[in-house]
Amino acid sequence: MTEVPAREGVFRWPDKPLGVLVIGAGFSGLAMAIRCLQSGFDDLLVVEKAEAVGGTWHENTYPGAACDIPAHLYALSFAPKADWTRTYAGQPEIAAYLRELVERFDLGKHIALATAVTGAVWDGARSLWRVETDRGPLEARVLVSGMGALHHPAVPAIPGLPTFLGPLFHTSAWDHGVSLEGKRVGVIGTGASAIQVVPAIAPEVMRLVLFQRTPPWVIPRNDRPIGPRMRALFRRLPLARRLVREIQFRVREARAALGFTRVSRLTRLAEAASRHHLRRQVADPALREKLTPPYRLGCKRVLISDEYYPALTRPNVTLETGPIRVVTPDGVTMQDGRHHPLDVLVLATGFDTTASLARVPVVGRDGLILARAWGERVAAHRGVAVAGFPNFFMLLGPNTGLGHNSVVLMIEIQVRHVLDCLDALRRAAPAGARAIEVRPEAQARFLARIRARMRDSIWQAGGCTSWYLDANGHNTTLWPDSVLAYRRSARRARRADYRLL
Ligand code: NAP
Repeated sequence: MTEVPAREGVFRWPDKPLGVLVIGAGFSGLAMAIRCLQSGFDDLLVVEKAEAVGGTWHENTYPGAACDIPAHLYALSFAPKADWTRTYAGQPEIAAYLRELVERFDLGKHIALATAVTGAVWDGARSLWRVETDRGPLEARVLVSGMGALHHPAVPAIPGLPTFLGPLFHTSAWDHGVSLEGKRVGVIGTGASAIQVVPAIAPEVMRLVLFQRTPPWVIPRNDRPIGPRMRALFRRLPLARRLVREIQFRVREARAALGFTRVSRLTRLAEAASRHHLRRQVADPALREKLTPPYRLGCKRVLISDEYYPALTRPNVTLETGPIRVVTPDGVTMQDGRHHPLDVLVLATGFDTTASLARVPVVGRDGLILARAWGERVAAHRGVAVAGFPNFFMLLGPNTGLGHNSVVLMIEIQVRHVLDCLDALRRAAPAGARAIEVRPEAQARFLARIRARMRDSIWQAGGCTSWYLDANGHNTTLWPDSVLAYRRSARRARRADYRLL
């Protein structure tokens, strides 16, 4: 396994303004760094708050953690990996892939680990960003956020939760020091993380109680090992690997049309397929009833699993669907008074997706604070740039998440968009340009189109609530169309949409 650079490793703390500063060394930050270096922007530093690269794939090490997008499609197109060992890679293999990128692209001297950004202010007089970190200040001409959204655990406001005496942890901060063997374990939540954790731990625990508030739609996964012969073929014939990736991409793109973004007659077909999956795997009609979602498929993230439903039919597993009244020192008491005694409690309750940029105040031109500039609705031009924030770009920013396809594809489109802007700035530098900023009119036109498309989308009209929606019920998380449509819209930064300062 490739070693990542240590905190005091190969990189040296810069003593003059950097060309490009990237926040976060997950998929987004690493992709940005590689592409910057390849395009000649080599005065570059990536700062990462964790002790290792990998972002969400470094942090989420819970049992069963894996990606629900096929591995070949979840890799960077310009950094393919021929030898994925399964159709759907597990967390250790994806985390190792991201660590290997550091060596493959010689990124070590460009990464500062264990360095958390605490704020950034645009200095208009000097045309640069003054960035505060917990290791000292930095300055950079260009600031790129690759912070992601899935790393601040959402801890539910359940009465009594802090009084629980046994081990209590969130899926994203799994305590591997706690053995679950022979224990009574409670899991709260039934999202993408829970449906992977539950089948992974059910065989070893004495009792597992799964607390469900809303059942998810689940479709088959069909995960298979990729044998040595196939891996050798992918190594010798890159075209074969690219073909597999293209097919995986097109199948998922078809889902965007098949009712994963809006309620259509095809939504019913997809729901029938999911119900068939449930019928095949769960014989007990009462359990099936509890597992049947009361909202339209696609409204929440559609989950893929072949092991989740069978795990719930195990004799040592109970699906609890009543409301929780209180967590006590020794378990969970339901509204109707029933008590589940527990030794360990796991929160599979998702993430606070608004926390990233709220915790890192970004102050743009004329003292404009990003969180306030947004007002009640988070927004960015093509999900990447915000008017009033020169030389600042976001990767996987507002409305560029995906439910139906690989977000890595979105990241690559955005990296290309940012590089287009940096290129324009580089070309205009001899004439005195020092910054590039999106025009408010261009941003407003883009947002109007997104909002119009969102109006009858499945997330708004599908009869559920989810973390895709903000406090006002607006979907500020997902891209409301296909990846191909986003590629057409955002791959190039239109010169007329930006002004040079
Ligand atoms: P999530 O999808 O937000 O699910 C959170 C779960 O906790 C939901 O079932 C929710 O119920 C429940 N919950 C929250 N507060 C609760 C409360 N007070 N009482 C009872 N139940 C409560 O979180 P996640 O499963 O961690 O997934 C988050 C995102 O991470 C996913 O959407 C996906 O983007 C990503 N992810 C991806 C993979 C992958 O394979 N690629 C794997 C894991 C995670 P309600 O539904 O009723 O709100």
